[in-house]
Amino acid sequence: MTGNKSKIELVAPAGGFEQLVAALNAGADSVYLGFKQYGARAYAENFNFRQLRKAVSKAHARGVKIYLTLNTIIKDDEIYDIVYFLNNYTNICKDGIIIQDAGLCRIIQDLFPDVPMHASTQMNIHNSNSLDLFGTAGFKRAVLAREMTLDEIKGLSNKTKVSLEIFGHGSQCYCYSGKCYFSSFTGGRSGNRGRCAQPCRMKYTPVQVDGKKDIYLSRSPSYLLSKKDLYTLDILPEIIVAGIRALKMEGRMKSPEYVAIIVGTYRKYIDLYYRDPENYKVKEEDVYKIKQMFSRQLCNGYYKSSSLKNIIDPGRSGSIGNLIGRIKKIDYSHSGRVKRGYGRAEAIYINSKWPVRSGDILEVWTRKGNKKIIVKNIDRIEEKGKYYYRIGLDSEDGFSLKDRVIKYFDKKIDEEAKSLFRYSSGNIKDDIKPYNRKTSGIHSREKLRQYLERYHIGEDSGKIIVKGNNTEKIKLTVKIYNSRELESIQDGDADNILISSQQELLSGKMIENEVLQGLIKKDKPGKQLIIDTPDIIYDRDMDKLKSEIDNLIERGAKYFRISNPGIMKLMSQCDNIKKNNGIKVIIGNTFNISNIAALDFYYNILGDYPGISGIELSPEINMEESRSIIDSFKKMHREKRGIDFSVFAHGFFKVMTARCDISLYENSSSMGHANLFLEDRKKYRFRITGDENANTLIYNSKNICSIFDLEIIITSGINSLLIDSIFMRPEDIKNILKNYRKALSLIAGNKVDVYRSFTEDLSSDPLFMDYSKGHFFRGVE
Ligand code: SF4
Repeated sequence: MTGNKSKIELVAPAGGFEQLVAALNAGADSVYLGFKQYGARAYAENFNFRQLRKAVSKAHARGVKIYLTLNTIIKDDEIYDIVYFLNNYTNICKDGIIIQDAGLCRIIQDLFPDVPMHASTQMNIHNSNSLDLFGTAGFKRAVLAREMTLDEIKGLSNKTKVSLEIFGHGSQCYCYSGKCYFSSFTGGRSGNRGRCAQPCRMKYTPVQVDGKKDIYLSRSPSYLLSKKDLYTLDILPEIIVAGIRALKMEGRMKSPEYVAIIVGTYRKYIDLYYRDPENYKVKEEDVYKIKQMFSRQLCNGYYKSSSLKNIIDPGRSGSIGNLIGRIKKIDYSHSGRVKRGYGRAEAIYINSKWPVRSGDILEVWTRKGNKKIIVKNIDRIEEKGKYYYRIGLDSEDGFSLKDRVIKYFDKKIDEEAKSLFRYSSGNIKDDIKPYNRKTSGIHSREKLRQYLERYHIGEDSGKIIVKGNNTEKIKLTVKIYNSRELESIQDGDADNILISSQQELLSGKMIENEVLQGLIKKDKPGKQLIIDTPDIIYDRDMDKLKSEIDNLIERGAKYFRISNPGIMKLMSQCDNIKKNNGIKVIIGNTFNISNIAALDFYYNILGDYPGISGIELSPEINMEESRSIIDSFKKMHREKRGIDFSVFAHGFFKVMTARCDISLYENSSSMGHANLFLEDRKKYRFRITGDENANTLIYNSKNICSIFDLEIIITSGINSLLIDSIFMRPEDIKNILKNYRKALSLIAGNKVDVYRSFTEDLSSDPLFMDYSKGHFFRGVE
């Protein structure tokens, strides 16, 4: 029987008005859609304010809820407009707002507290501590990370009052959502701002670089990062029993036909389950129908297992349709023997159990590539007791017996889909008029003005650029990945050493390291040993982590870097933190803080206890945006001194973290090696490696380097530079630190000319060549 009293909510996507009508007619319980300016699908048609108003009234008339997606990270100079927009929008709809940015959470909490907030899957919630933290912050619903198994989800659902939503169908990101920087670092189009260029759907070739030799591990490039589509009709009963309250269909970029068929089919099976759970069975024809819409190969995602062997389809990243048969016979336009694939054919024969009709589009996978056929001439014929479709062609070559035939487009299903939206949508014309801020809203303009003043945001905010010299000492933090490296690095030029090894931390090995113990005891002022904590951590590891943090604190450790909201929550539960107010934390850049309200949100959680000693701002903001946040923060917290604002200054930046063991790739034995790369069509190479938790990690093709721009960087209020040692030899790390130290002292000593000629000399040093400046000078779209 069902695990819930009320039915699971079917949440449908609407990238435009036709999709909305299709979703309503197909039986959605709620629809999520985006305003033209904000939302994680910037390239979808989306809704202007007038259309939003119409959408809300149309949906409400049917008893359907509208959830507004505002699920991108936002920047300071967007806050003013968003606040005014929300003031108007919440006057017409209070069903729910889906967000990613902690700053928006802060704003909605403060100004629109009766509007339910939904945590977007972009928030990457996968443990119960994160759920608790955001539940306390006012979130009513969380869309969980797509990487969770049903067992893990069940564990969460038993512990929380936050209503849980998961994705039920559609495209899947390769990377944990909200942690993907691939598109942003390769082309400036940020996935976290809804502008992803989908580099994970491109072809790559794995290359092992062995000394000076390149070994190509496959002969041709393939879609090594392209995940199959998610499908859950067959496991719907298990999902419902797991305590999920809402099932979301992916697809704000998809057609109204897609929305109609996918939503209609899930509606049918949700109803069937609640009506007759004992006889729940998915019909083959419905799976066929789903596959006729945009569909890659289908799979259950991570729900049944986290160690997946077949979640990638390297053969194809676009829609695949249904395989309906193979060519059984060919009629050639001339007589005589025909060399395979070369004769001109006037008809092909297939024996498909699925109907083929005039107007359908077939795709034949031939030896010479895929050939599309628009079916015009078709006969059903019988030969020796078997039925065949004879499909007439315009004398084409390239076909061979046994070639696979795919139904790419089914006219009848398309007509069925169109009937759900065709006649209802014509009267809603798109207009490009911006919404009118003066439209009556919840609060007066004066109230909004006063509220925004606390963040030093006005109508022309976010551009408070005053050039000035930072007189503070700029600190150097080096990130290392193994406590053994401490020995060689401890007396070098770093002010802080950030030690990042989840495996050592969770196994208790880190604390056994004598150098580490010595460094903790030395407690030199200004030289901090910072313990990094994992950015991905499931419930099963939380207790272990808690006791290791307690152990480390008992031995004298004082500084911890946090990269997961669940660990923020955990820190406040550690016995030794409760006893000791001297423990400090650094907020890692995975929090993607890109505006002052987001910083304010986390600061309020952590500001007093345990205290914050450092903040790494989003790697996707530029110098001016950083300066705006730092300036506002300093004005808001004049009494607080000693907080370091840090930027990723040097090293390879991790652009993707995927929950899939690197061994799932071809030639797995050689994967996981530090010198393994994925090469793209422009010959750029991205390092790919695995971690101890069966994640695959991908790094940017170029090293970030800031040594040539320090003069400018330090005027932004940044006072700490992070040097990441990944893939570097110990002697190179020492050299890099030494050069940064020297460059900084030259600037601090006002010897700018010497600094310039010093760095000019460095430009021919391989350690500082062929680099990228990251986003610090350009930012992202
Ligand atoms: S995994 Fe990254 S690159 Fe791929 S679609 Fe998702 S956000 Fe874009």
